[in-house]
Amino acid sequence: MPYQDILDGIYNEVFQIENTGKVADYIPELAKIDENKYGIALIDKHQNVFSKGDALESFSIQSISKVITTSLIFSKIGNDLWKRVGYEPSGNAFNSLIQLEYEKGIPRNPFINAGALVIADLMLDHFENPKEYFLEFVRELSENPTINYNQKVVQSELENGYRNAALVNFIKSFDNIKHQPEEVLDFYYHQCSVEMSCVDLAKCFQVFANNGIIPKSNSKFLTSSQCKRMNALMQMCGFYDQAGEFTFKVGLPGKSGVGGGVVAIFPNQYTVAVWSPKLNKKGNSFYGLESLERLTTITETSIF
Ligand code: GLU
Repeated sequence: MPYQDILDGIYNEVFQIENTGKVADYIPELAKIDENKYGIALIDKHQNVFSKGDALESFSIQSISKVITTSLIFSKIGNDLWKRVGYEPSGNAFNSLIQLEYEKGIPRNPFINAGALVIADLMLDHFENPKEYFLEFVRELSENPTINYNQKVVQSELENGYRNAALVNFIKSFDNIKHQPEEVLDFYYHQCSVEMSCVDLAKCFQVFANNGIIPKSNSKFLTSSQCKRMNALMQMCGFYDQAGEFTFKVGLPGKSGVGGGVVAIFPNQYTVAVWSPKLNKKGNSFYGLESLERLTTITETSIF
């Protein structure tokens, strides 16, 4: 497949479209980004890297980090995970509190903020130094030892994250958070603040396209069944309440973040990451979705 030509074509075409999206500004530090950034990277099954635009520039991965923390906990505790968090799409905004009351503090899935906070609580349970472990793991998957947390973004979220503070306290009132809310938020904001490039992200997600095996070390991280389930979660819950539309138009499992990153996988074939900070009304990168819709259409590589 001539991936480089395909990426070049998509990039040039998408750049012509008027971008009606808006940079996330509810985290003030994120609003400082140059909104015209746009990069795309694809890694095929032979580890060849193809890229275009700002694909080597690092950005805040935000919610994309939730896939990594969830998979770490899933690999540690297996199906016990589902006693603490569900696996159904929420149909609500990522930071919604509404469902939690009805469902007695068990978040619908690990990718809405409520669920990610429960996973953060589990990270504190299962790792002696979860921040260090998480960072090392992301570095290993991405084969990039320079990846780091952005303390300014952590601070900005701490100062403005009233909803997340409400969520963690509310869930604790149902006994589904064990640690102190401050500790859980501290880990959660760190995981969200990690900065990676499109190439880093496409490398990182190879494990999900590769049946749970980390390609570089050939070590099995997730069982085949766990990998299947992680991909199913990405398909159903990876794009806030636009997961249906993403499935309809792109047809790959993936995850987005409010930093403008989108990563998607085609099992056994490729991983792809796009970054463009302007978000559509549902909180997904406007150019990200335009790019991936074109990619799966041109290459005829949707999983459906
Ligand atoms: N740190 C962000 C928040 O908690 C993550 C949002 C996202 O990327 O969906 O609001």
